Order: sequence, then C-alpha cells, then structure tokens
Amino acid sequence: MMIILALLFIYYQFFREENLAPTSSIKRKFLSGLYAGMIGIFLMIYSIQITSTTIVDLRHIPLLLVTLYGGPLPGLIAFIVIQITRFIIGINLSSFVSLGLLTSLYIGYLVFREWKVGIFIKAFWMLIYSNVAFSILIIYLLLDIKSIFSEINVLFWITSTVTGAMALYTTEHLRKTNHLFKEYKKSATIDPLTDLNNVRSFDEALNRAIQEASTNEKKPLSLLVIDIDHFKNVNDTYDHAAGDIVLTQFGKTLRSSARLNDIVSRNGGEEFTILLGDCSIREALQIGERVRFMIEENAFEINKDVSIHITASIGASTFPETVPSPAQLYREADEALYHAKRSGRNRIYSNEQTIKVYKYKKRASCPFFIFLSNDSK
Ligand code: GH3
Ligand code: MG
Ligand code: MG
Repeated sequence: MMIILALLFIYYQFFREENLAPTSSIKRKFLSGLYAGMIGIFLMIYSIQITSTTIVDLRHIPLLLVTLYGGPLPGLIAFIVIQITRFIIGINLSSFVSLGLLTSLYIGYLVFREWKVGIFIKAFWMLIYSNVAFSILIIYLLLDIKSIFSEINVLFWITSTVTGAMALYTTEHLRKTNHLFKEYKKSATIDPLTDLNNVRSFDEALNRAIQEASTNEKKPLSLLVIDIDHFKNVNDTYDHAAGDIVLTQFGKTLRSSARLNDIVSRNGGEEFTILLGDCSIREALQIGERVRFMIEENAFEINKDVSIHITASIGASTFPETVPSPAQLYREADEALYHAKRSGRNRIYSNEQTIKVYKYKKRASCPFFIFLSNDSK
C-alpha cells in the first residue's frame, strides 16, 4: 500500500497540468501506462511467495487505476510491462497462469469501465472482480477448494480491497488537487470575464519589459491605457450583465486589433492596457488609433435584437521618446488618457503630440455617445 501511495503521489507531481483522461495525448497515455507498469514491477519485487514458483502481490491495482482513468491504451502498456517482467522473474506454470489472470483482469476492467455508474462504485466492483479472479487462481494452483478459506486468500481479499480503496481515494484527491491548482493558477493571471491578462500579470509583464528596456535602449517600449467612454451609461441604460457582455466583446476587439505579441490586459473595471514591445511612439499611436477605430466601428451585441456602439479614449507613452525612464510609462499614459478624456473622448493622446490627435477616421455624427441600432446586421 505504501509503495502504491508514494508512487501515485510522485506521478501526480510529474503531471500537474492535466489529469489523465481518455482524451489525453497518446504520449501521455503511453507514459502513464509505462509508469503504472513500473509500479506493478515494484509491487512484484515485494511479492509474497506462496509456493516455490507462485508469487502474490497487488500488481493488479496500478493496472486497474490506469485502465479506469486512461482507457485501453495505457492499460495495455501497463499489462505488457508487468507481464514481461513476470516472465523475466521466471518462466513456469505460475507465470503463464499470471498471464491468464492479468488478461482476464484487463478485459474485465475494460468492460467495467463502460458501466455508467460513479467512479467509486465502478472501482469497488473492479476490485471485487480482481479478488474473485485471484481466488479462482489460488484454487487452481493449490488444487484445493478449501484454499478459499486459506490465510493467504483471506489476507489477499483484505489487502487488495483496503489498498485499492486507499489508492482510489488518494488518486481522486490528487486529481482534484491538480485540477484546483490549474484553476487557481489560471485565475491568478487571467481575467475571467475577458480572458485577457489581469492586473497582476500586467504588472509582472510591465516590470519584465521595464527591466529589458532599461538595459536595451535601442528597443523602445510603449504603453496604451484604454478606458471606455461613458461606460456607466451602458450599465444604467441596460444592466450590469449587459455591461459585462460589452466588456467581453471589448476584450476580443482589443485582442484582435493589437499585434500578436502585444500584452493586452484588463487592469480593472472598464480600463485596459496594451503593452507594446519594440514599438516607437509613432507606431504606438498608429496601433492605438487602429484600436480606437475598430472599437468605434464595432457593433457590440447585447442580445440578438440589440447592438450598441461605444467609444474609448486612449493615452499613449513611450520610453525613451515621451518619458526619460520606463518606470514612468504608466503614469504618463494615464495622464495622456486624462487629456484625451478632457479634450472630448474617443481619441488617442500622447504627451509628445501635445494637442495633435491622430485620426484614422472620424465618425461624422454622435461620436461620443452610445446609440441604439435595432438591426446592426
Ligand atoms: P468616462 O468616459 O469618464 O470613463 O466615463 P465612465 O462612465 O466610463 O467612467 P466611470 O468611472 O464614471 O464609470 C465606470 C463604470 O464602469 C462604473 C461601473 O459601474 C462600470 N464597471 C466597472 N467594472 C465593471 C464590470 O466588471 N462590469 C460592468 N458591467 N460594469 C463595470
Ligand atoms: Mg470609462
Ligand atoms: Mg474608468
């Protein structure tokens, strides 16, 4: 039991990112099968000798687990590894009986797998099935029906059932832990509404970029801070849920109008940023203007009948062109955003450009306010 539990724990440390499932990659299934086979080998090393050629152990448990969670392929790999090792230990009647037993266990496990019941019930009956198969084997090898009540058979039933239950409980626990680990890791870096980086990973990316820019002045670093105009009106006119839908689509629009390697984040509420590596102020203003234009052009669908138009204001800053130190990028872009808001919204502004505002295309009418279109298509 200790061997199984320890090796299960190590397995789940190796494969933290994704739990074994029928949809896992072939490589993952293959490796898992090999690992289960290796656990089987360890278990055979600690076999109990019952006759001069017969050994008894818990090698069926890793086979059971890997077949239960991974399906036929990893089960088959484990089966082959275990059986080959059994033949290496000794080729005799017992090793061939073991081949028969393991084959019937593997096939049985595949059948039980298809049963539409909870994992614990399935595993419980798989264990009982294994124990019954073992008892039949004992009777056959010892040629005595009374051996059903022999110490070895009774002990096997107890050990196999208890260890199987412990192994299953541990596996379920480790799988749940891994799943939560992955979820928490994701939620620590990703904004759940827009799937963009959250403010935490933005900070990390900015710090990294600042460090890089400080040592490599030849590559300018730009930042766009983007804030939706009059977003409160969306929430007030429709509702908060509609506001969330708009924010989600807004995130997609930003992602698709930025360059592939730009770091797009939702920094909070209706404020977003795009961090542009190796990008001069001129390019930053062009990209920002494209972003602004695409937001202005896009129809944000609140539901299938209602689409709205929104605009956003953008502040831009660039090291070393508009700020002498990369640490000032954020404050400068935020100030520029404030100026963009003050000078009428729906525009991009940067300190260096003073009043000059880039315009890709200006909407002739109602540029700053939400308007309804009942059929945007
Ligand atoms: P301005 O043009 O000056 O930026 O006006 P504004 O209305 O966009 O700015 P203000 O800061 O007054 O309001 C921001 C609004 O954004 C208020 C808040 O209800 C809304 N908001 C912030 N976070 C969320 C969110 O996660 N979901 C929704 N639906 N609304 C949000
Ligand atoms: Mg706003
Ligand atoms: Mg705001």
